[in-house]
Amino acid sequence: MKLIPFNHTWPYEKQMGEIYFATCPYCSTENVLTHMSEEALQKVKDKIKHRLNMPCCFKTMTILEADDDYFWTNERLR
Ligand SMILES: [Zn+2]
Repeated sequence: MKLIPFNHTWPYEKQMGEIYFATCPYCSTENVLTHMSEEALQKVKDKIKHRLNMPCCFKTMTILEADDDYFWTNERLR
């Protein structure tokens, strides 16, 4: 498995079945609610790539995998 550098990660929050970001990595909007379903989250945890469209700035985050706290993407976010 190819290691993804930590600067390609971004933390997410899950609450009441909704997935959101405390801050958008692209435009710094706070408390961004995504349209990502729990099913989609489970798929990225199984390393199935997911393209997430940010509702705040319409950027697309390509998520390669996820753990319980972070999305691991194909680009440098920090
Ligand atoms: Zn944004």
